[in-house]
Amino acid sequence: MFAQVALEQVPDQLFTYLVPDELKIRVGQKVRVPWRRTFHAGYVIHLTEESPYRPVVPANGADLFGAVPARGIRAIETIEDPVPYFSEGTIRLLRWLADYYSVGFTLALKSALPSPVRENGSRPKECFIIAPRLPLPPHLPPLTKRLKTLYEDIVRVDGGRMSQLCTEFKTTPVTLRRLAALGYISCERAEIPRNPLAGKRLLQTHAMTLTTTQAQALDAILSATKPILLFGVTGSGKTEVYMQAIAETLKRGESAIVLVPEISLTPQTVGRFAARFGKTVAVLHSALSDGERHDEWHRIRRGEAHVVVGPRSAVFAPVCRLGLIIVDEEHDSGYKQDESPRYSARDVAVVRAAFEGATCVLGSATPSLESWFNATQLGKYRLVRMAERVGGSMLPSVYTIDMREASRPGEPIPIFSQPLLNAMKVRLQRGEQTILFLNRRGYAPTFQCPRCGHVFACRHCSAKLTYHAKDDTLRCHLCGTWQRPPEHCPECGATVFKQIGFGTQRIEQVLRTILPNARVIRMDADSTSRRHSHDELLSAFRAKEADILVGTQMIAKGLDFPNVTLVGILAADRSLNIAYDFRAAERTFQLIAQVSGRAGRGTLPGEVYVQTFQPNHPAIRTAADCAYEAFANEELCERKTAGLPPFCKLACITFVGADERTVAQTAHTIQGKLEACRGLQVSPAEPAPLERKEDLWRWQILVRASASKAIVAACDHVLPRSERVGKAVRTLVDIDAVFLN
Ligand code: ADP
Ligand code: ZN
Repeated sequence: MFAQVALEQVPDQLFTYLVPDELKIRVGQKVRVPWRRTFHAGYVIHLTEESPYRPVVPANGADLFGAVPARGIRAIETIEDPVPYFSEGTIRLLRWLADYYSVGFTLALKSALPSPVRENGSRPKECFIIAPRLPLPPHLPPLTKRLKTLYEDIVRVDGGRMSQLCTEFKTTPVTLRRLAALGYISCERAEIPRNPLAGKRLLQTHAMTLTTTQAQALDAILSATKPILLFGVTGSGKTEVYMQAIAETLKRGESAIVLVPEISLTPQTVGRFAARFGKTVAVLHSALSDGERHDEWHRIRRGEAHVVVGPRSAVFAPVCRLGLIIVDEEHDSGYKQDESPRYSARDVAVVRAAFEGATCVLGSATPSLESWFNATQLGKYRLVRMAERVGGSMLPSVYTIDMREASRPGEPIPIFSQPLLNAMKVRLQRGEQTILFLNRRGYAPTFQCPRCGHVFACRHCSAKLTYHAKDDTLRCHLCGTWQRPPEHCPECGATVFKQIGFGTQRIEQVLRTILPNARVIRMDADSTSRRHSHDELLSAFRAKEADILVGTQMIAKGLDFPNVTLVGILAADRSLNIAYDFRAAERTFQLIAQVSGRAGRGTLPGEVYVQTFQPNHPAIRTAADCAYEAFANEELCERKTAGLPPFCKLACITFVGADERTVAQTAHTIQGKLEACRGLQVSPAEPAPLERKEDLWRWQILVRASASKAIVAACDHVLPRSERVGKAVRTLVDIDAVFLN
């Protein structure tokens, strides 16, 4: 038998090895194979009886088959672990992934293995477990008085970890080992399980009695024959439906995967699943330590956990007998991986479910237009609606405030409009909480000289610097470089600078002056950089230790605070005017709807104030009415007219290099070659919206076609995968591109 093996260290090629008769090889196993003069770890991808060498049939008829391998083909050395790392289904999925996203197979394989598993650098910590021998074997040598007391103590507590016993009974490992050598106790090596939920006290919850709408949704999921788009307003009880669908899946002896956006992987979300399903829940996300991720992954692979909760990479979790995949907040752009392979975990989930005969549920209050189109026009998904909040709590009242009229003539535009300010004061008096949302961190987005208009920009990127008041720095949010604000304008020498616009830090500061009694918590990438700070800030807010939560996107999703009755969206149109991003309107709508959904989730009614300069823009207008369907249908018409996704497939090819001219030339050459391919609509090569990043120049070509296959075939033809990592210019092919920067 022969095995095709993928080696971690050798990209984009499979190697054939002979399987020794004594090895019971299975597809997906991790093996050790000889490679050049050393050994490498690899994964068995395919088994075949056929020799990769064609038999040579010489004239005399003798069959030389088998003679070649003796020298030419080497044998697998050992099996590293009998339990496969990949199921046949996963391997099929990874082959699809490589083909669809136009990447090498090894790269696809890597994305399915968390790095701590790949590097295996973090084997679980070990400890020694001491247990008294009971009953004692006969004829043991007598003990000294001290050892006898120690032995009796160990019997009393029924043993335990060596380190614990040492502290408790003031003894040493040496003494314990002596006692073991004398035969009174046993001392065995064991792994210390590292569990991200360990030490968390969770009260078990039980299934709730479903509302009629919820029960219908659950039925639809349990009898699904195609993917389900669960379109449920915020607070409609989608999570409860997911949990009952999972419970049913477990009853059938199958496993479930729940994907959530990284940002809403708060203890709140994870806790809800853990409280319902206990130890069978495994959590996979990047905030875990390497050791925790390593252990959780292997726990899943060994079939010890049957519910996996995690961000996009958890779509590859090595569960046994997959029955259900849930993609919560399916519209979230965080499901798209922004490095190669640039897969969309939502789409991978749909494909994986189809391959493995599982059900896929895409849930959202604001579905992506792609999914909406698939459900309502192509019939690929079944649409299930949940239009009301559980318990009949009302969706919040949304007020749009036209900021063009918010200031008196000649005065600057205020940060807070009068109605929003009044509403905040009312909440303070009533002891209710407010969330203020602003899509920009830092203090002020631009730092400008009032005399000559000079704007400070990053030296390495085409981005303006943001002023951060806390540490008095100008920072680039793209590459992270920072500098002190200069004393003089480098252009004209003036000394006074003006900060234009505002970020979360400035909001926090302004609140301190206008509402001095309000307790404020700020949540953004700057305030949550420590490992648990995200959880701590949210718990504090939940415990009503603050009146106002100011934050960026980070607070838009999934949070459920019953005492929040007011949400202020400070610059609703900030994301609207990004000319290059055809999804700007969709994103703005989603953001407003999601943030609004944080208000009035308890028994108290909620209010939302949307401050905007474009109150009549369709995205703002429909979001204020919580009218998703109106928005989606209107926006779909626009996309159709413009020939944009979901009416076609779009790929973005980016060229990156240090020398501007070479980058531009390469882009133009490739543009020409792509134009010669049939069935493609190729946009002219142009500098990317983010033209320079970290000292590298970036150019772009957008390619559209009716099917991704056509684009991938053309790219593979014009730009073979192996040539994309050229020395002077690197090429990135992004199929179904989401971020067009
Ligand atoms: P969504 O995920 O759609 O935003 P959730 O599942 O978070 O909604 O539900 C909102 C709130 O309603 C939660 O506090 C949840 O505990 C509660 N809830 C959900 N389903 C029920 C039910 N059938 N009966 C009572 N309360 C429910
Ligand atoms: Zn920069």
